[in-house]
Amino acid sequence: MTRKVSVFGSTGSIGVSTVDLLTRGLAQDGAAYDVVALTGGRNVQLLAQQARALRAGIAVTAHDACLPQLRELLAGTGIETASGPDAIAEAAERPVDWAMSAIVGAAGLPPGLAVLKQGATLALANKESLVAAGPLMLATARAHGARILPVDSEHSGIFQAMGQEDAACVERVIITASGGPFRTWDLDRLAQVTPAQAATHPNWDMGQRITIDSASMFNKAMEIIETHEFFGLEPHRIEVLVHPQSLVHALVGFRDGGLLAHVGPADMRHAIGYALHWPGRGDVPVERLDLAQIGRLDFEAPDEVRFPALRLAREVMQAGGLTGAAFNAAKETALDLFIDGRIGFLDMAPLVERVLDTVYAETRLGTAELNLDNVLNVDHLARQAAIASVRART
Ligand code: NAD
Ligand code: MG
Repeated sequence: MTRKVSVFGSTGSIGVSTVDLLTRGLAQDGAAYDVVALTGGRNVQLLAQQARALRAGIAVTAHDACLPQLRELLAGTGIETASGPDAIAEAAERPVDWAMSAIVGAAGLPPGLAVLKQGATLALANKESLVAAGPLMLATARAHGARILPVDSEHSGIFQAMGQEDAACVERVIITASGGPFRTWDLDRLAQVTPAQAATHPNWDMGQRITIDSASMFNKAMEIIETHEFFGLEPHRIEVLVHPQSLVHALVGFRDGGLLAHVGPADMRHAIGYALHWPGRGDVPVERLDLAQIGRLDFEAPDEVRFPALRLAREVMQAGGLTGAAFNAAKETALDLFIDGRIGFLDMAPLVERVLDTVYAETRLGTAELNLDNVLNVDHLARQAAIASVRART
């Protein structure tokens, strides 16, 4: 049966891996997928190449300035082109059975919601949309009979380990963190970290932003909240364990004391392939682990003093409501400021904390209604507050 599919953020790290699996699927069975829409950013060469290879219905770039080049690259193919955030959201309204949400940042929220409103299956790599608006995403899915499948490796691992188990029997979940490149660094060294150093991950090959978030542990902070929102688990049931080899992605602990672990190579095509083939399993061309050769798996407790983002995640869950939207936007802005060299590596967490305090004082984050307008307003306020806070100090 042909499945209609779209990929939002097809030119990024997750997007390219998704396109790789779709291409292989089409090579095996030319009728397997009908690719409806692909979207990307400034890399229109790659976007056009993907659109041609997958014979997509429409290719959309996020940037209006890139549209003429995209048009030129796809001239004569019959593939439609468009640009801008509204065009991405409109592309997400085109009927599909399955879509990959792999845009980075809060920009992934509107197309994600649009796919859910169709009642389709949304493979969700874009953790920002769950952190900023988890209850809204889940309520939209429920209202339209849609399904969200987690693509973050830890969450795919939890989902797989939980299997058909009774949710009431789950006592805790443990998500692992590699600890990033600075796992053993002291605060003096961390204060000197440059964006280039932070953009190199020891185990995973990912986009620049999530790589730096992994080094600061903001990625893990986001994932704690993602676990809370997606699986409906109380914060005290969610633990983080540092595991430098990144082979055990998550463990689920049951009321009888047993733990089921999800183990696999550090290759996102596993989690993407799982979401693509769910509820069955398909062939996925990832490395097969040789555990005898790997020999050992190490685990240690995370250090919330050197990596305060983890503590912030717990405070965000405690406050609830729109706090996640403020947290995500403050974190995205802090990351921009770090990448631009305007603040240091260790300045990001205190900045996010100051923004949360400011925005909390101005709005009723914990109790305001969670709709898209309110999420976007709080997102905007938090970004402004972050920039104002840094200006005031320089
Ligand atoms: P990336 O930076 O490599 O790619 C991001 C994609 O989004 C690109 O196609 C880019 O053009 C597009 N994009 C960026 N800004 C946009 C905007 N404002 N509007 C529309 N499109 C925009 O990122 P990535 O590493 O592939 O990550 C994508 C998402 O998946 C993120 O939410 C990330 O946290 C999550 N994720 C990634 C990995 C990974 O291994 N890379 C693992 C788990 C989760
Ligand atoms: Mg992850």
